[in-house]
Amino acid sequence: MRMTRLAATLGALTMALAVAACGGDDEGTGTGSGGGKAGIEGKAAGGKLVIGVKADQPGLGLQSGTAYTGFDVEIGKILAKGLGVPESGIEWKTTVSANREPYIQQGQVDLVVATYTINDERKKVVNFGGPYFIAGQDLLVPTASTITGPESLAGKRVCSVSGSTPAKRIQTEYKDAKLQQFDTYSKCVTALAGGQVDAVTTDDIILAGYAAQDQYAGKFKVVGKPFSEEPYGIGLKKDDTAGCNKINDILKAAVTDGSYKKAWDDTLGKSGTAAPELDTTKLTNCA
Ligand code: GLU
Repeated sequence: MRMTRLAATLGALTMALAVAACGGDDEGTGTGSGGGKAGIEGKAAGGKLVIGVKADQPGLGLQSGTAYTGFDVEIGKILAKGLGVPESGIEWKTTVSANREPYIQQGQVDLVVATYTINDERKKVVNFGGPYFIAGQDLLVPTASTITGPESLAGKRVCSVSGSTPAKRIQTEYKDAKLQQFDTYSKCVTALAGGQVDAVTTDDIILAGYAAQDQYAGKFKVVGKPFSEEPYGIGLKKDDTAGCNKINDILKAAVTDGSYKKAWDDTLGKSGTAAPELDTTKLTNCA
C-alpha cells in the first residue's frame, strides 16, 4: 500500500515536472525578453521583427536600394507598431511566392505581408491573420490582345509564378493554356513586354501596378474580369494563435483610427482608387 502510494506520488511528481518542462519550452519559443509570452508577441517584446514582403510588386511591396515601399509594407509597419516594435526594429526580408511557408516555418521571418492568399492548403502549415484586402485573379495582356478572359487562354502562353494560387488555378482549371512559371511576376512582365508570352496572370491589384509603370505606359491592359477571390492574409507560425488574434485586433484598431485608410492612400490609393471598406467581422478565426 505504502509502495503504491509512493509510486503514485512519484508518478504525479514526474508528470508535474514534465508538464512544467513543456510549459517552459513553449514559453521559450522565440521569446527573447518576451516577458513570458510566446510567438510573435514574445519576439516583438524584444523590440525586433523580421517581416517578409515582396520586392518587385509596385504599389504593394517594392524594393529600391535598402528601402521597401507599398501597401503591404505599410500594413507591416502598422502591425509592428501595434506589437510595440519601433520602425527601426523592423528588418524587411524579400520573399517570393514559393518560399513564404518555408520562411515562416523555419523562423526566417516572423510575419509575411506579401500579397499572400489565405487558403486551406496553406493553413495546414501556417496561421493567418486578416484578411486585410480582397483581390481577384486577372490577366495582363498587350493593349491590342484579343484575350478577353481565362476562357480565351487555350493554346496561349500564360506566365505566372511558382507556388502561387493563380499558377495553380491555370494548371487545374485552364489546362489548355501553356503555363510558363518564373519565381517573380516582374520576370513574367518582362517576358510579356518581349513577346515571349501572351498574358501574365495573378491578382488584379498586382497587375494594375505593373500596367501603371512608366516604362509600360500604353503597352498593356488588365482584362478586368477577376475570376477568383484572393483574400490577403498575414502569415505567421501555425501554433501562434495568440499572435494571430493580436494581429486581427491591430487590424481592427487600424480601421477605426484611420491608419488602414492612410496606408492605402499613401500607396495604391495614389492612382485615385478609394480605400476599400475592410469588413473586420470577417477576420480569420485564428484556430
Ligand atoms: N495572392 C496569390 C498568392 O498568394 C498571388 C500573388 C502572389 O503570388 O503573391 O499566391
